[in-house]
Amino acid sequence: MATISIAPFDQLFILTGAGISAESGIPTFREAGGLWRKYRIEEVASPYAWRRDPRLVWDFYSMRRRAASEAKPNSGHFALAALERTIHDRFFLCTQNVDNLHELAGSQRVLHMHGELFKSRCDSCHAPFNDANLYESPADLPRCSCGALIRPHICWFGETPFHLDLIFEALRQCTLFAAIGTSGIIEPAASFVSQVAARARTFYVGPEAPANSAIFDDCILGKSGDVLPVLFTFD
Ligand code: NAD
Repeated sequence: MATISIAPFDQLFILTGAGISAESGIPTFREAGGLWRKYRIEEVASPYAWRRDPRLVWDFYSMRRRAASEAKPNSGHFALAALERTIHDRFFLCTQNVDNLHELAGSQRVLHMHGELFKSRCDSCHAPFNDANLYESPADLPRCSCGALIRPHICWFGETPFHLDLIFEALRQCTLFAAIGTSGIIEPAASFVSQVAARARTFYVGPEAPANSAIFDDCILGKSGDVLPVLFTFD
C-alpha cells in the first residue's frame, strides 16, 4: 500500500468528511442507505426549514444525536489522534463532520467547519446553550434567557461555515494536504485541494475516487479505518 512520508518541515492539513465515520456506523451523506436519502435537506437542514418548522428540525437533530451518541471512534480516528501526538502543532485537523468521534479518539485540536451535533446556541444572541444530553426534542423547545429559540450549532445549507479564517491560514501554510472520506462536492471544502495543489503534496483516502480526484497527486483507495493506521511514515 502507498505511504505518505512526513518530513520534519512538513505542515499537514487534514480534511475529513462523513466517510471517516462510516465504519463507526454513522451514515454518510449520499450513499445508498444514507441518512439524508430519507429526508429532504431543505426541510430539516436550512434556515428556511428552521423558520418553517423548528420542531421538525429539532426532531431531526435529536435523532442524529441519539445515533451519534451510540457510535465509537474507529481505527481511522485513532490513527489521526496518534499522528497529532507525534507531530504536534504541524498537524491541523479540519472536519466537515458534526459528530465528536475525533475528540473521543483523543484528537486535541479539531476544527468543526460545519458545527457540532452536541452543541446548541441562541438563534438571536448566539450565546451557547448547554443541552448536549438532549436526545428528544422536548414539548417546549428550549429558549435562551433573551427569549429567542435555541437552535442546533450546525452550519445549515446556505449558511457560512465556521472558522474559515483559521482554515484558510492553515491552508496557506500547509505543505502536505490529505482529504479523507469526503465526496469532493460540498463547497467550500471541495475547493481546498485546488487552493494548495500548486505548492503542497495532495492525497485523497477513501474507497472510491471523489468528484475532484483529478486535482490530487494521489488517490489511495480503501476504507480509512484500514488505510490510515499504516499510511504515514516519518523522514
Ligand atoms: P459525503 O457523504 O458526500 O461523502 C462521503 C464520502 O465518504 C464518499 O466519497 C465515500 O466514498 C466515502 N466513504 C465511504 N465509506 C468510507 C470509508 N470507510 N472510509 C473512507 N471514506 C469512505 O460526505 P461529505 O463529503 O463529508 O459531505 C457531506 C456533508 O454532510 C458534510 O458537510 C457533513 O457535515 C455532513 N455529514 C456529516 C456526518 C457526520 O458528522 N458523521 C455524516 C453525514 C453527513
